[in-house]
Parts: sequence; C-alpha cells; structure tokens
Amino acid sequence: MFIHLKDVESKGVVRIEETVDLQDTLPKSASLTDFGPLHVKLEAHDKFGTAEVTGELSIEVEQPCSRCLGPVRHTLTIPFHETFALGEAPETEDNLESDEDYDVEWVSDQRIELAPYLAESVMLALPYVPLCDEACQGLCPVCGANRNEKACGCKQEKVDPRLAGLADFFAQSKD
Ligand SMILES: [Zn+2]
Ligand SMILES: [Zn+2]
Repeated sequence: MFIHLKDVESKGVVRIEETVDLQDTLPKSASLTDFGPLHVKLEAHDKFGTAEVTGELSIEVEQPCSRCLGPVRHTLTIPFHETFALGEAPETEDNLESDEDYDVEWVSDQRIELAPYLAESVMLALPYVPLCDEACQGLCPVCGANRNEKACGCKQEKVDPRLAGLADFFAQSKD
C-alpha cells in the first residue's frame, strides 16, 4: 500500500480505506502465532509539504495465553499517526515545531510503502500478557496439566524453588 507525497500535496487530503495482507511484512513468532488481514482506514493530510497520516487500523491476531498457552484470538484496534517528509533528517530540528509529539519519518522517495509502518504499529500494540480468560488457571507447574480442564491434585510447594534459590542468593550477598 503506497501513498504519494505529491498526490497528498496536490489534493490536500487523500483517504485510504483498504484491507492489506501483512504476511510478508509482519513476522509470525512465539508471541504472535497468526493474524488476519489488516483493515486500514487512514487520511493523509498535506501539512506544509509533509504528509500527516492519521487514522485507525484493526486486525485479528492469535497469541498464546500467557498462563495456559492456549490460543487467544482477539481483534486489536490501533490508532495510527505518522508524519512523512521527503528529504534527510536535519541535524538540528529548530525549524520544526517543538511539540514533543511531532515526530517525522524522513523518506527518500515521494512514493511511500506504508506496510512496514503498519506492521510496526501492530507489533507495538500487541498485548504483553494475553489471557484466554481473566480467570485462566494456567498450567500446573508440577505435572503440566491444563488446570482449566481438570484439577490434577498436585501438591505445590509454597515457594517456587527457583525463587527460593534467588532468596538464598540475596541472603548471601548481603554479608
Ligand atoms: Zn489461558
Ligand atoms: Zn499437576
């Protein structure tokens, strides 16, 4: 999906409403096992020769539940805001607005491929701790059973052995 700076400049505003396939741009990983097409609704406004692109993205993603590892599917709605300018980043930014939010992406071609910026927005919007359910019981640390499905009845130590080791370590390092 492209926007053309010249197009934005001559028209003043360009509206984009499209569905994009990010399969080639957005890497799948352990924390992002699958995703659907990205729905894009953007407006590019000419602002003194730069293109200010704002709008909203939405995408259905699949992530593993951080407690039971079961698949969690949810739809993310992501605000998008990026300003594109043709040229090289100036060494001093005194000539730009001092507004902290004013962050320009400098591009070398007036035809801008938006997909990498869209993919980055999706990456940043992924929840760190996805849960299949707020009340998810997770996996039993002893036998690995999914405790949402059955109560395995394992007895659990009150202190996680790894944390106990850490506690010893801190006790020693105080001396
Ligand atoms: Zn879960
Ligand atoms: Zn168990």
